[in-house]
Amino acid sequence: MNKIPVITSAEQSDQAAKKVNLLGMSKDELSAFFVSLGEKPFRATQVMKWIYQFGVTDFFEMTNISKKLQHKLHEVACVVPPTVKYKEFSQDGTRKWVFEVAGGSLVETVLIPADDGKQFGRKTLCISSQVGCALDCSFCSTGKQGFERDLTPSEIIGQLWVANQSYMENVPPTERENRVTNVVMMGMGEPLLNYNPVVAAMSLMLDDHAFGLSKRRVTLSTSGVVPKMYDLAKDIDVALAISLHAPNDELRNELVPINKKYPLKDLIKAAKSYVYDENPRHKKHITIEYVMLAGVNDSDEHAHQLVDLLKDLPSKINLIPFNPFPHAPYGRSSNNRIHAFSHILNQAGFVCTIRQTRGDDIDAACGQLVGQVADRTRRAKKWQESIQKRQSHHE
Ligand code: SAH
Ligand code: SF4
Repeated sequence: MNKIPVITSAEQSDQAAKKVNLLGMSKDELSAFFVSLGEKPFRATQVMKWIYQFGVTDFFEMTNISKKLQHKLHEVACVVPPTVKYKEFSQDGTRKWVFEVAGGSLVETVLIPADDGKQFGRKTLCISSQVGCALDCSFCSTGKQGFERDLTPSEIIGQLWVANQSYMENVPPTERENRVTNVVMMGMGEPLLNYNPVVAAMSLMLDDHAFGLSKRRVTLSTSGVVPKMYDLAKDIDVALAISLHAPNDELRNELVPINKKYPLKDLIKAAKSYVYDENPRHKKHITIEYVMLAGVNDSDEHAHQLVDLLKDLPSKINLIPFNPFPHAPYGRSSNNRIHAFSHILNQAGFVCTIRQTRGDDIDAACGQLVGQVADRTRRAKKWQESIQKRQSHHE
């Protein structure tokens, strides 16, 4: 599906020029690679296990592989995750990484543990799929940066690999375990606009020879790239989250501009088709995400409209308190308002959760992963100019 991934980090680009990066290759690609070396294809699954389950990058530590093959691999291949530029581990267990990917762009990844504080409890990793985003939703700071580039499969899966690695220090290779239990594609970027690399990376998340996560624990979040939702239903079985944020086209056009291209009627139709797959074994789950913006989309009337819109779509609704960023044109709805809104949805029979904001001490709320990313696009420049204009207007 995708080409052999290129090495991602600037520091290791020397190595990259000569060696093939095995991180991010599918089982089929890796089998073909071993065949090209004159080896049996099953070497692929052996090596995948070392890379993904034991976090091993050094071929000489892969003890079930012959010395001769270890040397050969050392010469021609490598296992290189994206470079960690910065990391921060918060008191509440939240962990955040800023990665530098090829070309010097920065992307962010956040791990959010469940509240129970259990060592092996649920740990959800929020992964980025692109540097920046082309879609410009009005409440999203990633959108304000504009779009820089797509991430490769190795840069996407590398985020999960590094997060798991952070729990493996000082543990002997064969005793290591992956700790991340859930993945959400809710970091920077619109995953359905970087389709092939995202599907390739999610396939590795599900693959038993790689991370082996259950399909219910891998969630792709989209703002509604409708044609790609149909493709997704065919290509891979994962949970889907739809960033709805508004119950009518007029408001959604303003908040999520891709709605002008794919209005609610089309989006809801695609969502229904995703849930009601022809194959009953593929029964899928949908979560509706709804960011709570004070005085904008959070009235009782909006809640009733939402009930009406979703009445034939089996889904869970997740209300997300707006996460402010500097100069954002919105405020967060009050807790009372969020509860009143949620009450209306509950009364109508919907399961509705309110997202806890976690990791505030390291600025790590999921879906809001920006901050230090270089402002290098035209859109970023325009956004900065509009802030300056607003400021001088107030002076
Ligand atoms: N592009 C995809 C995935 C990344 S955004 C999408 O839009 O779904 C992940 C989630 O965070 C989305 O639901 C998005 O709407 C939400 N989000 C973005 N900015 C936010 C903010 N400032 N506060 C709260 N949620 C935000
Ligand atoms: Fe892009 Fe998602 Fe942000 Fe919209 S909410 S600008 S689609 S990252």
